[in-house]
Amino acid sequence: MLEDGSRLQARKALVATGLRDELPKVMGLAERWARDVLHCPYCHGHEVAGQQLGVVGGAPGAVRYAQIVRQWTHDLVYFTPPDTLTAAERAGFVARAIGVVEGTIEQLVIDDDQLVGVQMADGCVVPRQALFVPPRFVPNDQLLTAVGCATGDDGWVVVDGTGRTSVPGIWAAGNVTDPRAQVITAAGAGSAAAIAINADLVDDDVRDAVTSTSATPTDHPNPTPALARGAHMTTTPPIDTPRPIMAGPPTKHQLALMIRVAGFPTLTVLNLSLGDWLATMTPVLRRFVLATIAVPIVIYGLMPQLHKLRVRMQTRNRS
Ligand SMILES: Cc1cc2nc3c(=O)[nH]c(=O)nc-3n(C[C@H](O)[C@H](O)[C@H](O)COP(=O)(O)OP(=O)(O)OC[C@H]3O[C@@H](n4cnc5c(N)ncnc54)[C@H](O)[C@@H]3O)c2cc1C
Repeated sequence: MLEDGSRLQARKALVATGLRDELPKVMGLAERWARDVLHCPYCHGHEVAGQQLGVVGGAPGAVRYAQIVRQWTHDLVYFTPPDTLTAAERAGFVARAIGVVEGTIEQLVIDDDQLVGVQMADGCVVPRQALFVPPRFVPNDQLLTAVGCATGDDGWVVVDGTGRTSVPGIWAAGNVTDPRAQVITAAGAGSAAAIAINADLVDDDVRDAVTSTSATPTDHPNPTPALARGAHMTTTPPIDTPRPIMAGPPTKHQLALMIRVAGFPTLTVLNLSLGDWLATMTPVLRRFVLATIAVPIVIYGLMPQLHKLRVRMQTRNRS
């Protein structure tokens, strides 16, 4: 259902609603997001290569992340709360000439719409031109979890190699299930899912077609030996075209019932409306006149309608 209340109907759904980045609560950080506050060294490293860079540390994996950012500059400062680094992590920073500033970040210092420094709680300002922040990735997966898609230990919706979720008919691709996906991998996952969905739709069409053609052999207008043996040959109608109604000729019992249903009211109406006139005739002539009038009404008027009704009821029973 869309925001305006309208509904779309589909046999399968691919959810690609991405993720959102939750940033540390530092004054000025969100306003500079994707300008000089960056998250991805692979996306933005080349844009700030050789500049005074900083990394906001303290989160799990932040030390390694800083070592990756270090590839883009010789002037890198790692900001972290006091006493969070292990001896090995400090040694790694010293070995690669990464500065460490321990304390609480107060705010970003902006001049002429550019980041120029990071102000600490003690008032000291560390000059920096760009800041890398490992954000917390939060998947936009409400659509998936609302229908019961299973999640893994990390809380992210689980999919197989084609993007198939645990809920039949629901696929997911890109950042909504994979925080590591980038444009090319998210698009690749979408493509893989599209191919799998198409194959799944074809499987459904084949199953439906087999069901509609494998009713009792007498139902099929012209059963071939192969069909009679159950080796189903059928063409699948395009998804948007209405399916042909598959129903054979009526059985003799159905035919007798239809003639009775059509004949009784016809003869009753003729008797009621022409009764006086018919009474003047001999019995043989009366039957001849009645048959002459009633047969065309029954055969050409009522029987085709009853045949259509029979087909409709038969089709509804099968679906
Ligand atoms: C600042 C920044 C820079 C980046 N730079 C690069 C880069 O240089 N190279 C690179 O490869 N990757 C980069 N990335 C990552 C890349 O943008 C993503 O990995 C990629 O866009 C993921 O694609 P996606 O289709 O999974 O999700 P998205 O591109 O995020 O698309 C999800 C879409 O779903 C919509 N949506 C969400 N919820 C709903 C809903 N309920 N109903 C309808 N629509 C909904 C969203 O509005 C959005 O349009 C960058 C990301 C950021 C934030």
